[in-house]
Amino acid sequence: MTGQKYEYGIDFQRVDAIDIHTHVEVDCHGHRAYDDVLVEAVGKYFKRGPGELSTVDALAEEYRRHNTAAVVFTIDARTGMRHEPNSIEDLIAGAVRNNDVLIPFGSVDPWDGRRAVHRVRELVRDYGVKGFKFHPSFQAFEPNDRRFYPIYEAITEAGVPALFHTGQTGLGAGLPGGHRIKLRYSDPILLDDVAADFPELTIVMAHPAVPWVDAQIAVAAHKANVYVDLSGWSPKYFPPQLVAAIGRQLRTKVLFGTDYPYIRLERWRRDFESLDVDPEVLPLVFKQNALRVLGLA
Ligand SMILES: [Zn+2]
Repeated sequence: MTGQKYEYGIDFQRVDAIDIHTHVEVDCHGHRAYDDVLVEAVGKYFKRGPGELSTVDALAEEYRRHNTAAVVFTIDARTGMRHEPNSIEDLIAGAVRNNDVLIPFGSVDPWDGRRAVHRVRELVRDYGVKGFKFHPSFQAFEPNDRRFYPIYEAITEAGVPALFHTGQTGLGAGLPGGHRIKLRYSDPILLDDVAADFPELTIVMAHPAVPWVDAQIAVAAHKANVYVDLSGWSPKYFPPQLVAAIGRQLRTKVLFGTDYPYIRLERWRRDFESLDVDPEVLPLVFKQNALRVLGLA
């Protein structure tokens, strides 16, 4: 074991909220999560200035200021994207430094076979990660393909949640061939199979899964072990059936998430509070549901 092991230093009574979805895009060696073409395209999609990449310490500082805890991750897509990601060890070291606000998730390249299974165990046992992030489109894999099931078995055994990107993506948007990124892999109905085959695995479907939001709502309502994170979109643009479900059948299944740095915390909160949802839902969305997903309730 080389890195430091993360342990919670968060006072969950005291924090106002838990953001279940934030990205670290660059590590201390300057390695970036995406290649140059993608960095530029994603910047345009979310209307960001050039050269603004999120670091783990800046992220922690911003969340500490807002008395909010944040799940942090990067994505290992070295096979799918033929690009080395920013260092997960560095991200975890940053989460250890900032363990009063940050919660590290791990990532494995699903195409790594048995090494990915080994890496899941190592990241939990030696580094203390609290969940795993997948991006089926970016990592170029069908999440319900049984060849990846040993990875989910290891995550289930570790007792931590798995968060999957669902729906369209800003990654590759506007590029020829979408930079070879296939949207179909992020259809939430594929996760219905995984949820059925792993009833003990907590699954988070990340983002309003446009254009498959109805399927997403159906899966989350049907499977007790499936949740939805509301990141990646300003709540102003949430599809109306999702807004209705947040106040009704999914009130214990929906999670506050920004997709930092692409959407910022103040804006998301402000836009969410202007939606027409039952105010009793707010503490569930901002904190209580996430505590259950993280196994802390
Ligand atoms: Zn994201």
